[in-house]
Amino acid sequence: MSSSSLPSDVGPSTRLVHGGVERSQFGETCEALYLTQGFVYESAEAAEARFAGEEDGYVYSRYGNPTVTMFQDRMALLEGAEAARATASGMAAVTAAMVACTKAGDHVVASKALFGGCRYVVEEFLPRFGVEATLVDGPDVEAWKQAVRPNTTALFTETPANPTLALVDIPAVAEIAHSVGARLVVDNVFATAMHQAPLKLGADVVVYSATKHVDGQGRCLGGVILSDEEWVTEKLDVILRQTGPAMSPFNAWIMLKSLETYPLRIRQQTASATAVADAIADHPRVARVIYPGRADHPQADIARKQMTGGGTLIALEIAGGRDPAFAFSNALNVVKISNNLGDAKSLITHPASTTHQRLTDEQREELGIGPGLLRLSIGLEDEADLIADMTQALDRAGKKASVSLG
Ligand SMILES: *Cc1c(COP(=O)(O)O)cnc(C)c1O
Repeated sequence: MSSSSLPSDVGPSTRLVHGGVERSQFGETCEALYLTQGFVYESAEAAEARFAGEEDGYVYSRYGNPTVTMFQDRMALLEGAEAARATASGMAAVTAAMVACTKAGDHVVASKALFGGCRYVVEEFLPRFGVEATLVDGPDVEAWKQAVRPNTTALFTETPANPTLALVDIPAVAEIAHSVGARLVVDNVFATAMHQAPLKLGADVVVYSATKHVDGQGRCLGGVILSDEEWVTEKLDVILRQTGPAMSPFNAWIMLKSLETYPLRIRQQTASATAVADAIADHPRVARVIYPGRADHPQADIARKQMTGGGTLIALEIAGGRDPAFAFSNALNVVKISNNLGDAKSLITHPASTTHQRLTDEQREELGIGPGLLRLSIGLEDEADLIADMTQALDRAGKKASVSLG
């Protein structure tokens, strides 16, 4: 296996180009796509040995597939994790991770500000199977402390949180989790692996929607779960194998190749996000910019402690609420309106009317999702074009708003 000949001290970009490669007998340069459901055996005895686990090798692609393994190994190298498992989507990763941590009679604690599906899994799905859930205000460390019980087996959080980019103190919450013997599961999508390493900060499990920055080009759905070898092989694998949220080898191949450009992309997208956040912060139509890389982020101290960069997402509040926020979004030419994020294309979302439409006004207010809030995902376009597009749209939204006010 060629990755074993890679010096152990190489940097992250080198690991993401060469790591995890398992070359076939043909010596291909580019990783092979093993688009197969199953595998054949030399003999009936070999099949028996393979099933008994006495012989290494693949059995069925729901259990494992060489292309998926290469992607998992490269993800583990990126995260510095002992083990990684790929799933069909980010939500499959979140669900499997939480199911692997719980059984009827257990209790979980999660922050309120979560991606919609994640909130559904903890608030609605787990309780159907006898797992009680408590939701807390993520940035409030004391609230986590008050919420844990002797039967708490998992804490779940997202930091920065969708869509307001509120931050949760990972080492503090990890300590609370461990005080009751629970595992801390962190959804690290918004920070990306380039800017935050939850496992090194004390978390036990990291989950990703690989649909976002890992693919990074808007093609495939995927998810990843990363943790220690023991938990993955003893608790997680049986759930993945028997319930079947396997990642397609085709999607794994796309994601594997995408990881080669991951550091470059995240670095550029973060640099552009920083420039855009600064360029629009003082515009008269912008009531507020929330970006973890700025000194005026409400939890800038936590950002400095646990993040190495602000990431690729910006939250901004347009003065005047929904109408000017819609006018601004509609006036954008380069930035597209979409609920996705982490893409090469810059995308803007109005959470109150889309991703968080189902919440009540009261719940949205509690999470800071006002009618003027927008979530902006910065892509790979030229920084100057993004700033020009944002500025002209803000100017036009302002004019429309003042006309309608007049
Ligand atoms: C998108 C997303 C998910 C869900 O991922 P899918 O790939 O869409 O299933 C979970 N958490 C966060 C923070 C996300 O942005």
